[in-house]
Amino acid sequence: MKVLLIIPSITDFAAHDMWAAPYGMMVIASALKKHNIEFDILDLLGRNYTRKEYEDGRRRYKRTIIEMPKILRNKNIKRHYAIYGANFDDIEAEVEKLTNTYKLIVMSTTMTYWYYGYKYIYERLKNRFQTSTFAIGGVYVTLLESHSKTVFEGAHIFPNQRLQYFDKLVSEIYGKEFTCFSQPFSLWEFPDVESFSHRRYIPALLMRGCPFNCTYCASKTLVKNLEHKDPIKLADWVIQTCETTGIDNVALFDDAFLYRADEFAKPFLRRIMQSNLRLRLHASNGLHPRFIDEELASLMRKSGFETIRLSLESSDEKIMSITGDKVKRTEYENAIKYLQKSGYKKAELGTYIICGIPHQSPQEVIDSIKYVDDIGGVVYLAEYSPIPNTPLFYESIKISRYDLHEPLWQNNTLMSYWNPSFNEEVLNKLKNFLIGLRKDVDKADDDLQKSKTSK
Ligand code: SF4
Repeated sequence: MKVLLIIPSITDFAAHDMWAAPYGMMVIASALKKHNIEFDILDLLGRNYTRKEYEDGRRRYKRTIIEMPKILRNKNIKRHYAIYGANFDDIEAEVEKLTNTYKLIVMSTTMTYWYYGYKYIYERLKNRFQTSTFAIGGVYVTLLESHSKTVFEGAHIFPNQRLQYFDKLVSEIYGKEFTCFSQPFSLWEFPDVESFSHRRYIPALLMRGCPFNCTYCASKTLVKNLEHKDPIKLADWVIQTCETTGIDNVALFDDAFLYRADEFAKPFLRRIMQSNLRLRLHASNGLHPRFIDEELASLMRKSGFETIRLSLESSDEKIMSITGDKVKRTEYENAIKYLQKSGYKKAELGTYIICGIPHQSPQEVIDSIKYVDDIGGVVYLAEYSPIPNTPLFYESIKISRYDLHEPLWQNNTLMSYWNPSFNEEVLNKLKNFLIGLRKDVDKADDDLQKSKTSK
């Protein structure tokens, strides 16, 4: 009997596929193939549930407005709540279409505040496949294990720290040795891109984890120790996969892709560059400006690095220092200088500025936006999401009107409803200020895209 792999729909106020491949599931699919265990995939964010697909691999999901979860009702939230990807009717139809029986059903999870949709899908499947074993992993179950046990009653839950037990479960069920996560990351299978080929990008992960410990981030909870792949092997796999599938977009999944760049990122990029393939590399997770030197900036340009998001978060040195000390202004300024020198235009130098963390003032966000604009970057505002068990989560609880232990309130779209310093009016003013600044940059970006397509 086969395994069924489920990629769930998303319930949220907004959702897009910004190169968000289900990396873990794709690795499991490769490991199952290697061990000759057959599987089906129920991808509720797949091609049938896509509204628009962009050349660079990003997608807009099908969107169906649904009633807001009870907890969020009557709170004057002026946004539509929706299910992205397969809606409830689609899910019913997809589940009915499944004619095989499955010994094991595996589901991935991501954001904590998407549990509303996970619960619906799990219950529907549990009802249909009453004798199957269910295994659930991913970010949500790692951050909120106890909560997830109430959502996935009767399932085996695998937080990242206990992923090796997933292998044990598969071995027991299928009566043969199964190895996937119970080995160093360097030996994990590469993701099974072919089985998920409706996603027009290749997910590449060079280093798992992050050396920093920012007060608003759960990276250390998700992955305790840094582990990496051999950069040459990874690059060769990317090149080969691009050649066999014809996909030319590569999404970098690292939290700290540029850390120890001489040992990892530089050899990886050199190898990509030498392939002479015209690849398009995207790093939507954010890059550390501290590690960008002249050589690296040049390699990024020559290897096809297209989506750059520099993690600055704030131009206020005091805030930068107390939230994690991952970058200083001079380091950001140098990174911009080197990237400009290697040929990047302002419109290509995206920079994240965080908005809505406790004790931050709106003026500080405006100052940060102006600073980035002056230096030569283009701001992407990252609305703060309180992540459980991080230092800033506890600070957020102190100032919030609502109970942030409830995962639905951890949604970044709702920051302006619980953070008194950033109410809707303030947030709209900030966004309008940013829109005003970005008009020129967007025009330059349009020109850039036109010049790229005419080449
Ligand atoms: S550098 Fe980025 S990934 Fe690392 S801890 Fe800070 S926010 Fe998280």
